[in-house]
Amino acid sequence: MITGSLSRPCRRPRPVTAAIAVLAALSAVLAVCAAPASAAAGYDAERCGNTSGRVLLTLDDWSVEDPDRAVRAGSFLRGRGVRAAFFLVNHHAERHPQIATTLRRQGHWVGNHSYSHPHLPALSEKAAREEIRSGLRSTLLRPPFGDYGPRETALAAELGYRICTWTLDTLDWEKTGGQFPGPEVLRARVRQAPAAAKRSGVVLGHLFTRFPDALPGIVDDLHDQGYGLCRNGGPTTASIPDPLDC
Ligand SMILES: [Zn+2]
Repeated sequence: MITGSLSRPCRRPRPVTAAIAVLAALSAVLAVCAAPASAAAGYDAERCGNTSGRVLLTLDDWSVEDPDRAVRAGSFLRGRGVRAAFFLVNHHAERHPQIATTLRRQGHWVGNHSYSHPHLPALSEKAAREEIRSGLRSTLLRPPFGDYGPRETALAAELGYRICTWTLDTLDWEKTGGQFPGPEVLRARVRQAPAAAKRSGVVLGHLFTRFPDALPGIVDDLHDQGYGLCRNGGPTTASIPDPLDC
């Protein structure tokens, strides 16, 4: 249910007539896909403001069968001195407000993952704005499916958010033969991922998969490989800083 794309192609205007071909070529040269003007200088949405050199683990969505799974994962990570970020779908989270409160008390960040997890670019501007506005209040927005464009970046900025995606998708959400990949598979994917995805990186996993079960192995492996993890410095608020306080 989540797209695996790590990067999206730049869109360039297609020349319609010969008369505007020169203009089209010029605009292509001028790099139409430049960073959004609303983002802070140097802000990298894939790294979410992580410039620490350490790895930020992120857990998305919700577990309908077991909502407290988030709190147990948060407790484990706090016990290892790790701060993670949870991007909760507010359609669920608003019915269990103690979960976001507990996660923040545990020292984790809790960000906006929209109200009902739609593809934001498929919505009207009004509906997309409402999805963000009704999401869990924070300063980081993780667009569902990692699906966003310039309009979503601008809407997010208007509502006080920076876009936050990821550098390493564990693909924990992708079933094979009806099964999510197990903890050892996920652990190996993180262990074998390139350094560039881990140094000041952001790892994507989900609360409804086996990712929470893989956390002990992932934390051990990252330490063994010499990576630091985002450090847990105590309770957080809805305001997630840029750069991240890792
Ligand atoms: Zn999601």
